[in-house]
Amino acid sequence: MDISHLLDGLNDKQRDVVAAPLQNMLVLAGAGSGKTRVLVHRIAWLLQIEQVSPHSILAVTFTNKAAAEMRGRIERLLGNSLGFGRGGMWIGTFHGLAHRLLRAHPLDANLPEDFQIIDSDDQLRLLKRILRNLNLDEKQWVPRAVAGYINSKKDEGLRPHHIDVYDPVGRTYQKIYATYQETCDRAGLVDFAELLLRAHELWLHKPHLLEHYQQRFRHILVDEFQDTNGIQYAWIRMLAGDSSKVMIVGDDDQSIYGWRGARVENIQRFMQDFDDVQTIRLEQNYRSTSTILKAANQLIANNSARLGKELWTDGVAGESISVYAAFNEIDEARFVVSRLKAWREQGNSLLDAAILYRNNAQSRILEEALMQEQLPYRIYGGLRFFERQEIKDAIAYLRLLSNHSDDASFERVVNTPTRGIGDRTLGLIREAARDRSLNLWQSAWQLCEQGVLAGRAANAVRNFLALINQLETDTSELPLHVQVDRVIRQSGLWTHYENEKGEKGQSRIENLEELVNATRLFRPAEEYLDMSPLTAFLAHATLESGDKQADEFDEAVQLMTLHSAKGLEFPLVFMVGVEEGMFPSQQSSEEPGRLEEERRLCYVGMTRAMQKLYLTHAESRRLYGKESYNRPSRFLKELPSDCLEEIRLRTQVGWSNSAQSQSRFSQEKLQDSFASTGFKLGQRVLHPTFGEGVVLNYEGVGAQSRVQVNFATAGSKWLVVAYARLEAI
Ligand code: ATP
Ligand code: MG
Repeated sequence: MDISHLLDGLNDKQRDVVAAPLQNMLVLAGAGSGKTRVLVHRIAWLLQIEQVSPHSILAVTFTNKAAAEMRGRIERLLGNSLGFGRGGMWIGTFHGLAHRLLRAHPLDANLPEDFQIIDSDDQLRLLKRILRNLNLDEKQWVPRAVAGYINSKKDEGLRPHHIDVYDPVGRTYQKIYATYQETCDRAGLVDFAELLLRAHELWLHKPHLLEHYQQRFRHILVDEFQDTNGIQYAWIRMLAGDSSKVMIVGDDDQSIYGWRGARVENIQRFMQDFDDVQTIRLEQNYRSTSTILKAANQLIANNSARLGKELWTDGVAGESISVYAAFNEIDEARFVVSRLKAWREQGNSLLDAAILYRNNAQSRILEEALMQEQLPYRIYGGLRFFERQEIKDAIAYLRLLSNHSDDASFERVVNTPTRGIGDRTLGLIREAARDRSLNLWQSAWQLCEQGVLAGRAANAVRNFLALINQLETDTSELPLHVQVDRVIRQSGLWTHYENEKGEKGQSRIENLEELVNATRLFRPAEEYLDMSPLTAFLAHATLESGDKQADEFDEAVQLMTLHSAKGLEFPLVFMVGVEEGMFPSQQSSEEPGRLEEERRLCYVGMTRAMQKLYLTHAESRRLYGKESYNRPSRFLKELPSDCLEEIRLRTQVGWSNSAQSQSRFSQEKLQDSFASTGFKLGQRVLHPTFGEGVVLNYEGVGAQSRVQVNFATAGSKWLVVAYARLEAI
């Protein structure tokens, strides 16, 4: 048999891995050394040379996108389409695979068949309600912190009764966790951490199922293993049993999810727990220029806790890494955009460029700058589309329709659009639900039936319940997109948002249209094949929304957090906000362990770049409504100076090409602007109609002076200062 195509384009060490006998393996290697590539080739090898059935392979990737890519690559290598359906190979993220398993055995997992996944937003909303019910003050029991507590306990495999508590604070946390869990169980809701814990418990409590899957998955492969947490490790360990062969690939220098419970020690644990593990190190980097690689290597050498790896390349030196000191975040965004335009003018594709940032909130100003210049962009990994209010409303209707016990959705839409169900009525419904251990839907029914609610309130509630029932009977037989369209209209959502005047209402309607469109184009992935189209779509919306946006294939710049850039590569990379206090973040710079994790994150970011890397920082920055003056990040100082080129030029101020905007974004210009208009460039302002915006430019003096403001929702406008009633904020 011709095996050359499976080994082509691999170096000797990589071939050793791909063509190794059936055994447990650890591939420990730095960024861009071909770990993922080797994993893909190994799967193809197992299928074609070892004649392993796709049925007995389970592969874990870090994102849904990576899973889709992996499927495509294997199929291309083998030149045929593989069975990924019911009996085929399982490829997915830990969460996706756990979900698939629970869908296959809901009753064994103690879940209703129509259980729903909730995202972190829903989880917070639910927790807030529980805190209210328990009479706990949100200031003391911060919902986000409580969610963090619950999720981390789940990641460690702990249920409330497993937790030993000795102090009142611990007891309260435990109680909130227990109440939260009861509420979720009653409503058939499963959060992200719960997916993993349930899947683990399923096998723990149902040995016959475990045995079935152990017999089935003889070959397990895991990418990005350094970021597995306790429960994920336990899950793989259990599935592998004594006889399956496990191959893990990872890089301790890229472990960046410690804050979320990932345990890089799992790599060492793997070597102890599994028999005869062959460890292979790959040392040649094929991704980046030698300049980028040298800088990244030198940076990571500042960390003490390392397993130690060498990484070299015989690639070209390439261009220096450019460091740009921006005046403020607007100037920074402007600089990035100007370089992107130049990149495109040189005949390159925007798809090959990425902007990476530490915090999601940094994207907004970049988005504005990109929109101004009409450069298409895509936010990767952020739940952009499905996080929009109107979309969440529509989804909540759909969820309530398919599962009446979904309290989070009930809460969301019971009075959206307003139908006269006030806080008092809702309070009664919640209270009865709590006292009688009912879900909100049941509670609302009972209160109406028993006459506790009467008159207008009872009518309003009855109408709402009837509406949902009606929608259910009217639409359940229709094709998915027709169903969604009907639900949006009959529920009153459409009219509700149509009545919201201005561009905002318009864009909400467009989004709802886009949702219908998304359902029309929706083709369930193989793990959803045996669900109803609606259930599959809802699961997809919650679980995968970050990965699939409508404009996925358009030529667009990719924007993402450093965390979600893991495993990816781009010819051109911008890392923005490389400042003390931002990156490393304030808290982490005070703790050595966390500082090292931030440095690894910086290493991950830099090693995404293939040809050209820009690092930018701003002298002043406004974020979360606060102005701060940050020094350049210590990470910049840790880079070898012969790899860097400093750019001192300030970019031009205007977003347009007007003569006005040709002047430099200098200190004088800023002062001038203040003297003539009363507003500084970059200043945030509030307008009575257009809302919040940022001053971009100005012209004229005195009564004639005008400012150009870029509004978050209304876009860019020139306004006469004397009339505009702008307020500095
Ligand atoms: P990361 O740690 O960032 O996930 P990785 O180790 O998984 O990186 P890959 O993404 O598999 O690395 O490979 C990096 C790049 O190098 C890819 O573009 C890949 O196609 C290429 N590559 C890997 N091995 C070789 C090789 N032997 N010859 C040529 N190119 C290679
Ligand atoms: Mg990889």
